[in-house]
Amino acid sequence: MSKKIRVRFAPSPTGYLHVGSLRTVLYDYLFAKHNGGDFILRIEDTDKARYVEGSIENLVKILDFMGLEYSEGVFVNQDNKTFQKGDFGPYIQSLRLDIYQKYVDELIKNDYAYYCFCSQERLGKMRKNQRLQKLAPMYDRKCRGLSKDEVQKLLEEKTPYVVRLKVPRKGVTEFEDLIYGKIKIENKTIDDQVLMKSDGFPTYHLASVVDDHLMEISHVTRAEEWLPSTPKHILLYKAFGWEIPQFAHFTLLLNPDKSKLSKRQGDVKVEDYLKKGYLKEALLNFVLLLGWNPKTEEEVFSLSEMIARFDLSGVNKTGAIFNTEKLDWLNGVYIRKMDLSELTKLCVPYLIEAELLEEVGGSKYQVLSTGEEVDFEYLKKIVALEQERMKKLSEIGESVKFIFSEKLDYEKELLIWKKMTAGDAKNNLQLIFNELSSIEEKDFQSNKLQEILDRLVEKNNLKRGEVLWPLRVALTGLKGSPSPFEVAEVLGKEKVLERIEFALELLK
Ligand code: GLU
Repeated sequence: MSKKIRVRFAPSPTGYLHVGSLRTVLYDYLFAKHNGGDFILRIEDTDKARYVEGSIENLVKILDFMGLEYSEGVFVNQDNKTFQKGDFGPYIQSLRLDIYQKYVDELIKNDYAYYCFCSQERLGKMRKNQRLQKLAPMYDRKCRGLSKDEVQKLLEEKTPYVVRLKVPRKGVTEFEDLIYGKIKIENKTIDDQVLMKSDGFPTYHLASVVDDHLMEISHVTRAEEWLPSTPKHILLYKAFGWEIPQFAHFTLLLNPDKSKLSKRQGDVKVEDYLKKGYLKEALLNFVLLLGWNPKTEEEVFSLSEMIARFDLSGVNKTGAIFNTEKLDWLNGVYIRKMDLSELTKLCVPYLIEAELLEEVGGSKYQVLSTGEEVDFEYLKKIVALEQERMKKLSEIGESVKFIFSEKLDYEKELLIWKKMTAGDAKNNLQLIFNELSSIEEKDFQSNKLQEILDRLVEKNNLKRGEVLWPLRVALTGLKGSPSPFEVAEVLGKEKVLERIEFALELLK
């Protein structure tokens, strides 16, 4: 019987979820789900200095929001408290220190690891010399030569120590990476890695190997930055006599200039992308395509389609460029597909943030500029104006501001279309004004208004632009906007006439 597929995402709680880690966790998740395997969240908090309070809770909430479900590991309850679930816990490494201690003792006993008593000062000097000689930084194995008695004596004297892996001096270590293929490395180039720090905490290397083994992880899937560490991990598996899992490393994400994706060149926090109004579906779809190729022209995938389609053979070996134009495009695709009520619900906070509205309760909102009260249905109409064009939810405030303005502010020249004169624009607006004044409020609907104005164009032997352009500008004050019919419907008769009158005033 083949082994059950078990995959873990193993973040360190250092503050926020990086978009690169979002891609890693998505691939981990998809690989597990595609293969009917288990997906586990393990927290790797053995680096006390980098621990940031609240980051576990934050991370769990983002995964939950993104819909990346796991069945084992660390969860957060309603009161924002972490709890754990699963047969292989604890799933937080700082709660497993006794386990690591036991395995370190075993390695020392079997001569696969040794105590190192070198002071920070000595190690600092050693590294400096290596730098000067342009040598790779590497422990010089001084303590590897200590006799049993010497070690005993130093331990009795309570000399601070770390425990290091005794890397064989000869031979090669090799393994097969599911993305990169065969990796071979000469043992003499591998550092005697610290496994246990002087504070009794394990390093990442020891902890992740012990945990991946004890938690029966079948596939270690993670970011490329860990590929160079994998030979050390293989040596550890061998030292313990454990079965070696499969490995798959995912390429780096790159800035457009091909440097490693960094804070300096843009946002890297998933939270920031969400705040800017990228939809979770678009973000997941975007990171999916950063390094995975469906082998067809398709680009838009729902989470369930991703699960059905994802396989490691589609994962690229070369770094993926983080191209936010593509993200904007995908976000637009998902915004257009969205149910209008859902989209409006998501847009309301941005309208409030833009100080256009205030919530007054009972699905009612007050327009801050005019004091009018509007309901959710009305906001839906406003959002509908932009649904086709919007790229990010955060744009909504700026793009529909004109609807809420008490008075528009634009140059009168904007009312004049192409070769028209100001006089033509004025005449045409006057024609529109007269026509619309005679229409009943209930007929202020986009399609009816379109018919009426089309007739007006024909009757007066005008070009459409000569009528629609000045009207559109009169209603919006903008160079670019949705169609004047849709805008007119949202504004209603009274405001439409007011705005046309204002334009006529400007053109006087
Ligand atoms: N804790 C490591 C990180 O946050 C995970 C590495 C791994 O998945 O093995 O990058």
